[in-house]
Amino acid sequence: MDLGIRGKRALVCASSKGLGRGCGEALAGAGVDLVLNARGAETLEAAAADIRARHGVQVTAVAADITTEAGRALVLAHGPFDILVTNAGGPPPGLWSDWSREDFIKALDANMLTPIALMQACLPGMMAKGWGRVVNITSVSVKSPIAALGLSNAARTGLTGFVAGTARQVAGKGVTINNLLPGIHATDRAIALDGAVVKARGISMEDAIAARAATIPAGRYGTAEEFGAACAFLCSQFAGFIVGQNVLLDGGATNSTM
Ligand code: NAP
Repeated sequence: MDLGIRGKRALVCASSKGLGRGCGEALAGAGVDLVLNARGAETLEAAAADIRARHGVQVTAVAADITTEAGRALVLAHGPFDILVTNAGGPPPGLWSDWSREDFIKALDANMLTPIALMQACLPGMMAKGWGRVVNITSVSVKSPIAALGLSNAARTGLTGFVAGTARQVAGKGVTINNLLPGIHATDRAIALDGAVVKARGISMEDAIAARAATIPAGRYGTAEEFGAACAFLCSQFAGFIVGQNVLLDGGATNSTM
């Protein structure tokens, strides 16, 4: 299916691996030129070279910490962008009673204020052109809290509130903003969380993965490829009437009617 976005230019943040890379791959497959970003230059350059070679699109790699003002300035210098996919690493797990003000500020900076700053930088150009797509990678935790990820629950819910209002303010200019909510996907992040379970319960990694997969009606973890395809569709010409939505990709794990 031709998504109608060939030749557009996308910034995909935190995209050398995992879900961000899945989004970059799917957009490149649709003919979109990319600016990819991550902190580690080596893995990022390798991902950029691989995507460039397989999809024949322009791929620029910008090694920077997207959660810092200096990092964002480096990345945004490669704009303007028609498509923005926001993403960053998730906060560490822990216990509600242990987090300090600094822990909360760090989580808010990474998973709420950074995507907001990126939108503030990119939306005016998109609105002036009369076309734009923003997809924020958030988490299933905004619909169904994950107790150990209280920092994530808090920061991402704040972002969700911002998007709910802002998406409706920019839709009239041909710009859509939506959030993708990953449930459990087979990425390094998921493996790190499984590692914490292995340590806490003294079980094997295989048993930890099987136990988590058993909580998902689909019976397995999602893939970055599936996630990227959903992102590319939300960025397509066909998704112009999807505004301010929170789309769950969780294999049915969130037990709710709507
Ligand atoms: P991942 O496999 O660990 O990949 C994270 C990617 O982001 C890497 O490319 C990493 O590269 C980059 N990155 C991390 N922090 C960055 C920063 N400050 N600046 C720039 N790049 C950064 O993680 P993932 O599973 O794809 O998760 C992506 C997001 O979805 C996270 O926020 C995670 O919490 C959320 N999520 C994931 C799942 C899941 O099951 N996988 C479920 C719910 C929510 P560098 O380390 O080199 O910077």
